[in-house]
Parts: sequence; structure tokens; C-alpha cells
Amino acid sequence: MVLSVFKSGDELFNQGVDLVKRKEYAKAKKNFEKTIEKGGREADLARIYVDIIDACLDRDNPARYNKLAATLANAKDSFVFGLTEVDPGRLVIECRLLAERMTIGNMPGNNQAALEEKGNKFLEVARKYQAQIGNETITISELVGVQANTGIREALYIQAWGYESLASGAVMSDPKKAAELLQNAYACRKQLGEDGQQTMNQIKAYSKSVKCWICGRPATGEGVHFLTMSSDVSPFMRKEKDDILQSAPADYSSVYVWRPCYSSISRRSDEIARQYHDRAMQEMRAMEARLQAEIRSMYTTMSMRR
Ligand SMILES: [Zn+2]
Repeated sequence: MVLSVFKSGDELFNQGVDLVKRKEYAKAKKNFEKTIEKGGREADLARIYVDIIDACLDRDNPARYNKLAATLANAKDSFVFGLTEVDPGRLVIECRLLAERMTIGNMPGNNQAALEEKGNKFLEVARKYQAQIGNETITISELVGVQANTGIREALYIQAWGYESLASGAVMSDPKKAAELLQNAYACRKQLGEDGQQTMNQIKAYSKSVKCWICGRPATGEGVHFLTMSSDVSPFMRKEKDDILQSAPADYSSVYVWRPCYSSISRRSDEIARQYHDRAMQEMRAMEARLQAEIRSMYTTMSMRR
């Protein structure tokens, strides 16, 4: 009996399927690539499997899902990958939505306009998840091994990010509006079963209004439009009933100062510190030069005595 050393495309394919079940994706991918090379009967499915494996091994890359969606466009029959039954039409929709959502997530959020655009795009893709996937469970999450949500639940996460991004954009010009937007994010997080405490703290900070301890002007939005500065409110001051006193945290170890006063003080003190630093460095260098000169003259004297 002669044993064939070279496996056929079909044998390699079947072995690949077993490797996928064992989650040995890199090895399985090699098998499927060879199946395609040798023109095995399942070459078309092998192409899809290769793209699914690429997504499994690089799952934060939106390009992987667009590639998989393109390869799936010609597939009609449902198939199994690992233990997951896959409807190719549905997987195409999921891959496109996921790639879109990831691309939005990667958008820079470095200014108000960018954050608002990002927020609106998140809300738009959330609506697509509701409409196109609804109560079905998302297959692609199961395939690449992340928490598999329904379309509705995924939409809630994305809506929360959307409102959070819109709020981050709005807070620079309108902290009250930012707090309202965060109320929507909070509602999404509660529906998801989270405690939403972080969002609630943010809402409280954005809605908080105080008067600047230095100039007395009103400001809304803690951490953005007014900040705390270390200070010492003496007991005598604490007896006063004026509303500026309300503008110090309860432990009287600091005061609230609005951003213009805060930034002018901190910039000026930075300048002063820099001047002192530069002067100190200059004096150190002069001292070092004097010491070097003294050392040199000492050596000269010593070598002359030898
Ligand atoms: Zn002020």
C-alpha cells in the first residue's frame, strides 16, 4: 500500500475545519490557503474562512470586516464556522456596520466640531443596528470571540458613546446643554444594566454653578469652566453668609476659580518659576566654571612641585 505524502485540497480543507474547532486559527489559515491554491472543491468557502480568521486574529481593524463583507457578497448558502451557523447575507450587514462603527471610533475628537460630528455619526450607526439587526444576536461578535449582543443592545452602547461625544463637544460652549446630552447617555447606560455612576458624576460637574472666588463672576461646569485651586479659607471667613463662600468645597482646603483667572495666575506663576530656574542654572554653570578653573590651577601647581 502506498501512502500519499501530499494531501489533496479537500483533505487540507477538512483538517482546517478541525483546526478551527480547536481555535488553532493560524494553522487553519495555512490549510485553507493551500486548499485555494490546489483548487479544492471548497475553495470558495476556504476564501471566506481565511477572511474570518484574519478578522479573528486582528479584530480591531475595520479593514478586515470590509474585506470579509466583499468576499461574502458572492456566497448564498449558509455555512458553519467553528460552532457558529452563519447566514452570509446577515454577516455582510454586520461586517459593514461593525467596520463603520470602528471607523467612527477611530475618528479624532480633538475639537468641538470633530466631537459633534463623531457623536452624530455614532447615533446614525446606532439607528442602523436597531433597524437592520434588531433583536437578533450579532454573529460576527461570536465568530471573533467578543461579547455577542443583540442589535438593540449594541445600539444602546453606541448611542451612549454618541451622546458622550456630543456632550464633550458641547461643554466648551454650553455646559448645560452638555449635561442634558449626558442625561441621554445615562439613560442608555441604565438600560444596559450599568450603574452609570461615572456619567452621573459628569452630569453633576457640568451642571454645577459657582462664583469665582477671585473676581466674583459666575461660572458653570466644574473641571472645564471653573477649577479648584489649593487655598486656606480661614474660620473667620467661614462665618460669612455671602454666596462666594458657597464657592469653596466643603473642606475649605481650596476655592473655586473660573478658567480665565485660573489660567492667568498659573501662566504667570509658570513664567516666574521659569525665570528662577533659568537664573539658578546660570549661577550653577558659573560656579562649575570657577571650580574647573580652580582644579586646573591646582593640578598645574602640583605638577610643578613634582
Ligand atoms: Zn475670576
